[in-house]
Order: sequence, then structure tokens, then C-alpha cells
Amino acid sequence: MGLDRETDEDHSRGNDPGDDRESGHAAGREDGPAAEGAPARRDRAVLAAVAQGLLSEERAVIALLDVAGIRASAAALRSAFAEVTAPGTAVLHAFAVKATPLVPVLRLLYDEGIGAEVASPGELALAAAAGVRAEHTVLDSPAKTTAELRQALALGVAVNADNPQELGRLDALVGSPGPGPRSPLGLRVNPQVGGGSIGALSTATATSKFGVALRDEGSRSWVVRACLDRPWLTRLHTHTGSQGVPLELMARGVRETYELAEEINAAAGRQQIDTIDIGGGLPVNFTSDDETPTYAAYARLLRDTVPGLLDGRYGVVTEFGRSLLAKHGTVLARVEYAKSAGGRPIAVTHAGAQLATRTVYDPASWPLRIAAYDAGGHPRTGPVVAQDVAGPACFAGDLLAENRSLPLLGQGDLVAALDTGAYYFSNHYAYNSLARPGIYGFLPSPGDGGGIRFATVRTPQTVEEIVAESGGAHADALRADRDELPEGH
Ligand SMILES: *Cc1c(COP(=O)(O)O)cnc(C)c1O
Repeated sequence: MGLDRETDEDHSRGNDPGDDRESGHAAGREDGPAAEGAPARRDRAVLAAVAQGLLSEERAVIALLDVAGIRASAAALRSAFAEVTAPGTAVLHAFAVKATPLVPVLRLLYDEGIGAEVASPGELALAAAAGVRAEHTVLDSPAKTTAELRQALALGVAVNADNPQELGRLDALVGSPGPGPRSPLGLRVNPQVGGGSIGALSTATATSKFGVALRDEGSRSWVVRACLDRPWLTRLHTHTGSQGVPLELMARGVRETYELAEEINAAAGRQQIDTIDIGGGLPVNFTSDDETPTYAAYARLLRDTVPGLLDGRYGVVTEFGRSLLAKHGTVLARVEYAKSAGGRPIAVTHAGAQLATRTVYDPASWPLRIAAYDAGGHPRTGPVVAQDVAGPACFAGDLLAENRSLPLLGQGDLVAALDTGAYYFSNHYAYNSLARPGIYGFLPSPGDGGGIRFATVRTPQTVEEIVAESGGAHADALRADRDELPEGH
């Protein structure tokens, strides 16, 4: 089956941005580090980041990753599927690299039995740099070039074709006689089951750009024929949406894909489709520290909705992104100035559109919880006041939170943007040439009662790097008196 990674042997365990959102701080912190939950770990990490000088005049914004939390989410994913699949079922969980494209994170996840889903040469290189083997890597992009397909096949990476033209390219690369390709090859289908609450993330609408639209006239029979004509096509792939798509809709998309696989296998008279890639998309709760919905709930819903998928006849690939990382990231920024306008207090911080791009441009879809700390890194107390938390960028909409009730922030205080572990470290934005912040993982420090150790995951971008990526080497390129073409033009 090719999915030989032992991801299923471990049966151990299983939005509205209103003013009533949680403070983001641990209610009580009487327990020791072993028993503490994510909010208490986060509060201790903020305190330690200040004490250890991680936040400074030069580094007025940083990002933190909770290593214990990431490990726990990976374990929860594996055990959830282990509980609902028949013994011996090959399951590959492939992390959607676009959610958190950081090599140390990919390696941490790989240690926890999670492979990689990649959608570009860059993401493929990140997975390789993290040591993720080809057989634990899946390539799915809607616009793969022939060169990218050739490279994936040479490596043995699984590929899901998006459309008939891409299948045509695979035909040419696979060739007719001889043994089939090493790469497991699949076709992405769009069951057109409908969208969720965020249009830009709804991938199974009638007119979605992804996959072969199954309900279009003649489409389903075309897919069946396309598979029968290609004995090497052994997988179907679907990803019915991300944040905002209800679990029931996701499960229905998986069921439609499973039913298509059954139809193809019946027509082929053999188990030609041997693996179904169900995509990712588990939504994340951005309104409190509760990790809901859980992987266990989704896995049980799949068992009830599509029992045949999990009875051992099919291998299963998953591609969760946001749900593995979101809750484990915290952006921490200093309040540079506290001011007021029109009666509204405004905390001007160093975290804005350059790293919370979606939140700033579409705050209704992507609200973030904000936790307030004092300059020493202790949870800020004091009367709660509606205020704006602004970013550093030069446009009026650069707000992390608008009219949010928080203890009144003062100059030198800290704000934490919570649940930022997924997509916030990939959706950076070069507005105002603001630097990408450093990212640091935090772990318990062995030996020193309850201490915290920080590990650099990504160094802060330097001003020199900004100049270099902004054409610094080509300063003269546009001058009229140049008569030669520059090298490497
Ligand atoms: C984005 C994406 C995912 C991951 O989605 P999440 O909402 O982050 O879980 C999985 N598969 C495909 C094909 C995607 O495009």
C-alpha cells in the first residue's frame, strides 16, 4: 500500500468576536508544570520571554510556539484515527505545510508520525529539509508545471492531479509499458457539496477552482473512464474546505468521494482505488482555549458517515493544517505608545498587517483573541476598557483588534495575539518593509524546577535581508545611462 509509516499503532488516547471572549489567561496556576494546561504554559512562557530578554528594543515583536501543545495535537490526531480504523489500515497524516512552513516544526511533527502535504517547489523543499521522506509526502497544487510533476515522480512523492490536462501530462510522464510509477498517483475531485461561512476557503462549491467537478454534466462518468484507462491511478483526493466549513459537510464530501471509489472499483472488477485522501480542514475555535471540535469527534463522524472508508479496504491520507498548529502559536508585541483619539484608547504595537494580514483585512472572518500583559510579562490587571490594538503599518485599518474590552494598556505593556500558530507565519506581508519576527519554540527546561527554554525556530528578518530581497543588488538597474545588460538580468 505504500503507507508504511506506523501512524496507527498507538491506541493510547484519544465566533463571534464579542466582548465576552476569554481573557486568555489561566484562571489559576496552582498546578505544577506537568498538570498545567495551555493557557498556564503560555503565561509562563511570556514571563520567561521577558525575563530572558527575548523581547527587546530591537525585537519589539516575537512569536512563540508551544512545543508540548504541538506534540499533544499530533498525538490526538493519530489516536483519533487509530480508534476508528480497522487494525492494519494504512493511515498517513500529512501536515499541510502552508499552514506553518517552518522546517523545525515539520521535523517535530515528523517525529510525532506526521508527514507533509506540499503545494509548491518551496514547500517540497521545506519538507525535504525537515527530513520528511518521499513516501510520507503528498503533492497537491492546482498549477503544477511539467517540471514539478517530473521531479515529484522521480522522488516517489505522491501526486494528486487536479484536472484532465494535468492527467494528460502524467500520461506522458508515466509512459505506457513497464512497471507503474513509484509515486502513488491520484485525482482530486470536487464533490460540489457546498461552501462554509468563509467564501475564500470553501473548496467544494459548484464553481470551485479545485479538482474535477463531479456533478457537472458527464463529469462522473469521465472520471470513472479516466481511471479504468489508467491502471496506475490508485487514489482519489478531496479537500472540501477549511475554516468555516461544518464537519457534516466535510464528512459528506468524503462520503461522496468514497462512493465514487466504490463505483470505480466495481467497474474495474478489482480494488484499483486503494487509498482515499480526505484532505484537511478541521476548523479551529478562535474564541477560547477549548480545542474544539476535536479530531476524535471528526473521526467518529467519519466512522458514522462513511464506515466503508475505515474498514481496512482503503488506505487513508489526511491533510490537516490549521488544527494541528493554530492553538500553539502566540505573537507577543510591545505597546510602543498608548494614546487616545475621539475618546477611544489606542495601544500602538508592533504587531499588525505584516503578520496578521488576514485579520487586519478581514477582521470579521479572522478575529483574534488578545491577552494583555504588563511590561514584566505578568497578566495585566485593572479596569477593562474598550480600546483599539493597532499595528505599526501606515494605514488606518492596521488594527489587530478594534474596540476590544481589555485591561487598559499602557506604554511598555505587552499584547499577545493568541491562536496564531497556523497561517500567521506564512501569511506575512511586506507592507512598509516591516521585518518578519523571530519565532521561538518553548519547552520545559529540564532540571530547573518549572523553567522554560526557548529554541530559535526562525531568526528575525534583518534590515539587510529586506534590502536584498527588495532589489538591493540591482540599485542601478533602472538608470537611463546603462548600456549593458546586467548579469543574470
Ligand atoms: C489548505 C489545504 C489543507 C489544509 O487545510 P486546513 O484548513 O489548514 O486544515 C489540506 N489540503 C489541501 C489540498 C489544502 O489546500
